[in-house]
Amino acid sequence: MTSVPHAPAPSAPSAAQPPAVPAVSLVGAGPGDPELLTLRALRRIETADVVLYDLLVSQAILDLIPPRAERICVGKRASRHTLPQEDTNRLIVQKAQDGLRVVRLKGGDPFMFGRGGEEMQELARAGIACEVVPGITAAMGAAACTGIPLTHRDHTQMVSFVTGHRKQDSSTLDWVEHLDPASTLVVYMGLGESPRIVQDLMAHGFSGDTPLAVVASATLPQQQVGLATLATLEAMLAKSTLTSPALLIIGSVVTLHTTLYPLIRQARTQLDLPTT
Ligand code: SAH
Repeated sequence: MTSVPHAPAPSAPSAAQPPAVPAVSLVGAGPGDPELLTLRALRRIETADVVLYDLLVSQAILDLIPPRAERICVGKRASRHTLPQEDTNRLIVQKAQDGLRVVRLKGGDPFMFGRGGEEMQELARAGIACEVVPGITAAMGAAACTGIPLTHRDHTQMVSFVTGHRKQDSSTLDWVEHLDPASTLVVYMGLGESPRIVQDLMAHGFSGDTPLAVVASATLPQQQVGLATLATLEAMLAKSTLTSPALLIIGSVVTLHTTLYPLIRQARTQLDLPTT
């Protein structure tokens, strides 16, 4: 058996000691509640020299960035672009080549509809090492905070995470035809496109009675839940104040919300925690 010699213990990271070779941490910030950060994400934030973050990253998490670290908002939310993706990629590479501890902080999980793969490919082209710190994706945060289990043996054992954004020049959502109408569907970036999504789903065998929840600002104090069916979604939205960021959760598991959500609120009250 070959033994692998132990590498020398790395010295504690500090802003005064830039990494000898450039390296980037691609960090998932989770859905918003800072308590849902991983320990590793928190450590990377606390030891960063520069943090490049998206608009989706909540203020409570931005407050954890040390004052000495440079913070750059590169985020985008729907059409409100702050920096084109290529400029963001270039900035990450440049900051790493400057010898800084670079944290690229992204909402949810970096590899879930977050362009984390594209940013890593750019780092690969520049020969810069990069680690990925996973985050709780919005679907998991929303499910936990609303009492909507995404799978349940009495309902479905299958769940799909999809994007409501169509590819340019495409009139249909290419995932629609692959879905089982009895399974759970979580649509990211779907609020603005919801009439088209409903239309496409119903054209592919989903019943108008399929239960649906819109979960906005999941895990944050301003979290909101709107309940409807595919057929009544537009009427519900017209009367509601639901705004982005929001997910659509579609499927019979949504009916569990009525029973499970009060327990979550009760538990948080009893534990003296904010009731999101
Ligand atoms: N990487 C992220 C997703 C980025 S795409 C993740 O893993 O969660 C952006 C979309 O994510 C938003 O349009 C919205 O649909 C969803 N989203 C992100 N944070 C959310 C939140 N706190 N509540 C509800 N939806 C959220």
